[in-house]
Amino acid sequence: MRVVVFSAKPHDRVFLSEANAGRHELVFLEPRLVIETASLAAGAQAVCLFVHDHADEPILAALAGLGVRHIALRCAGFNNVDLASAARHGISVARVPAYSPHGVAEHAAALLMTLNRRVHRAYLRVRDGNFALEGLLGFDLHGKTVGVVGTGKIGVCFAAIMRGFGCRVLAHDIAQNPEAVALGVEYCLLDRLFAESHVISLHCPLTQQTRHIISSASLARMRNGVFIINTGRGPLIDTAAVIRGLKSGRIGALAIDVYEEEEGVFYEDLSGGILADDQLARLLTFPNVLVTSHQAFFTREAILAIAKTTIGNLDDFTAGRACPNELRI
Ligand code: NAD
Repeated sequence: MRVVVFSAKPHDRVFLSEANAGRHELVFLEPRLVIETASLAAGAQAVCLFVHDHADEPILAALAGLGVRHIALRCAGFNNVDLASAARHGISVARVPAYSPHGVAEHAAALLMTLNRRVHRAYLRVRDGNFALEGLLGFDLHGKTVGVVGTGKIGVCFAAIMRGFGCRVLAHDIAQNPEAVALGVEYCLLDRLFAESHVISLHCPLTQQTRHIISSASLARMRNGVFIINTGRGPLIDTAAVIRGLKSGRIGALAIDVYEEEEGVFYEDLSGGILADDQLARLLTFPNVLVTSHQAFFTREAILAIAKTTIGNLDDFTAGRACPNELRI
């Protein structure tokens, strides 16, 4: 089967080709899937998409017109695909539900530790011959309260790491995870989590209910100096509200691996140009803000698992087998 792989990066070529072992005809293309690039899928029965590829109604109609019958997402989140529209066009959709929850949770922990102990500042400072301690004061995580929003595969790994540091962990989810309960995590309403947590880490999916879960209203209910970590999805945070929160000191530190307007910026080398996004540019001026470019998933183990599962999903589709990773509305 011919499969057009959109947003293909060098690691996609290496790991997908290896897992594929010549079974499918993989065509690697660098552009993202947007309406202008949809025609590049001509002749393919399937497309393979990543987090910044769009599959909304007009694009799905275009893909269906070209004969595309399957979308293989090489990610867990699927907020970028209109599943109802895909079903109407007879296009099945499969994803990679889990690859390395540890990798994402460990990245969230790395962001927190970096910000708290000012490692990002110390790294630059000592290279410039400045060995002073001023401005580098952190706090012991031990004994602090960490709020975890979303205790699925990643959230529970993050909670385990925080329990290992000796933190009290509060959690909020629409369903309790027995693994989290066994770790000693205490479930509570969002209001209490916001009010009591020194650190809040977001691990829920982006839905209508979770969009802007961090807003001016929720920030007003948090501790002064709260640390906020987002490795979930950019729109979980109202960026304008957190900029106000950082300026007023309500937020003590912010780490984001995902950003509301990351498409067209994250994963691109824009170092030779002018950053057009004023909000992102403002965020980058704060010494207590750390931004990484949607890389939390990016470990060898995760990329290998993503490639294997994606090719497995394509195998199921070509064989007409039921696929355990197929998404239904
Ligand atoms: P998961 O499905 O295992 O867990 C998500 C959890 O969120 C579930 O327990 C679910 O009940 C809960 N949830 C749903 N709605 C909620 C709400 N309104 N309030 C609180 N909790 C709610 O998913 P996962 O594998 O743990 O991934 C979590 C998210 O992390 C994904 O949706 C994705 O957006 C993001 N992610 C980011 C990266 C990255 O590289 N930064 C990589 C993988 C996943």
